[in-house]
Amino acid sequence: AVNHYIEKIEKDTHNAFVEIFYGEARERATVVDQKIRFGTAGRLAGMIIGIKDNICLKGHRVSAASKILDGFESLFTATVVERLIKEDAIIIGRLNMDEFAMGSTNKTSVYGPALNPHNKAMVPGGSSGGSAAAVAAGLCHAALGSDTGGSVRQPAAFCGIYGMKPSYGRLSRYGLIAFASSLDQIGPLTTNLEDMALLLEVMAGKDPMDSTSSSHAVEPFSEALGSERKYTIGYLTETLEHPALDPEIKQLTLDTLDHLRQAGHTVVEAHLPHLDYLTPVYYIIATAEASSNLARYDGVHFGYRSPNATNMDEVYTLSRTEGFGPEVKRRITLGTFVLSSGFYDAYYGKAQKARRLIVQTTNNIFEKCDFLLTPTTPGTAFPLSKVFDDPTKLYLEDIFTVMANITGIPAISIPMGQHSNGLPIGLQLMAPVFKDFQIIEMADQVS
Ligand code: GLN
Repeated sequence: AVNHYIEKIEKDTHNAFVEIFYGEARERATVVDQKIRFGTAGRLAGMIIGIKDNICLKGHRVSAASKILDGFESLFTATVVERLIKEDAIIIGRLNMDEFAMGSTNKTSVYGPALNPHNKAMVPGGSSGGSAAAVAAGLCHAALGSDTGGSVRQPAAFCGIYGMKPSYGRLSRYGLIAFASSLDQIGPLTTNLEDMALLLEVMAGKDPMDSTSSSHAVEPFSEALGSERKYTIGYLTETLEHPALDPEIKQLTLDTLDHLRQAGHTVVEAHLPHLDYLTPVYYIIATAEASSNLARYDGVHFGYRSPNATNMDEVYTLSRTEGFGPEVKRRITLGTFVLSSGFYDAYYGKAQKARRLIVQTTNNIFEKCDFLLTPTTPGTAFPLSKVFDDPTKLYLEDIFTVMANITGIPAISIPMGQHSNGLPIGLQLMAPVFKDFQIIEMADQVS
């Protein structure tokens, strides 16, 4: 299987993988093969997994698709990856992404953009674009991505596969290169829910190396499959009435709600009057945290150091100037601005208050329903050649996904068929915090 996938990756034309871990994968294959013969293999024996280039594997390059981490090798393995390997999964390589997970197109990668397997002229989404493209193109069984504002779910929707952002704290972030620590979660991308449930089961749980990981009991997610339990599903009128929403995606959401009603579920209307504030709140908090997290790349400790520097100040400034791409610089600048003493109250402080309000509203919504069903994205994958030059337009594409990160709730994107333009459509299911088991249960019924 390892050789089969290596061959496929070598021939691939979607720029999904940025490196194949030849030695690692083949060595592990031999070990796992032995274990299978002796009947001692783990639960993921033979599962071939790609990891986003911001998740660490000891002794291997990791770069967050940025020049600033040029030449850097991980000194340790991310907890979630360690747990996968313990169950005999085989990590086959690292996957393309937007630089530091900032973006929705995979266009900001130092390796060049990954392409959508359904149509190579289209973006695969981002920032976990390589992860989604790899799984959709059949280059590995499953992939790990990271989701700060939709980066697992949006590319999953654009590439026609499943992508889940678990509850905040459900998976350890140890070994994930931080973008915005209060929003980041690692999440799996798979072609089916069985793999999704199994991967979550193996990876979830408290990790002493990540103080924000939760000690909430890990449920047997695989047992959520095949359930016929009836639930109450809410839909947010503000999402369905949103002017940016594609009419076919709206219709598909309405039809799905109808099917659920016919299958015996209760469907209720819900309201999120602050929908239009979600994206600004997300971009203030995410950039503020990013400006702090990315301060460590100083040309001294990690990766790239400018060869043009002649003194200490220049080591810092030139390494950062030459090492970061334009989108990362924009976000560091924006984040530093919203945190600056003169503007803190007007922006960062206000965004924190708005976040609290959004959490309260979300809690109120979930008093009346068990799940929320929304489109994952307002439209289908867009052409690579037409990615907006205006960053704020691109930021607005995240309107339906950021809610789950702002509030910490679990959310999954479910592939729901094709648009008349031939591209996949994803619908998103959200649930209250730590209802990750139930979300798999319901996703299975929606699928
Ligand atoms: N598109 C969003 C952004 O650019 C989401 C990124 C993410 O989830 N990592 O910030």
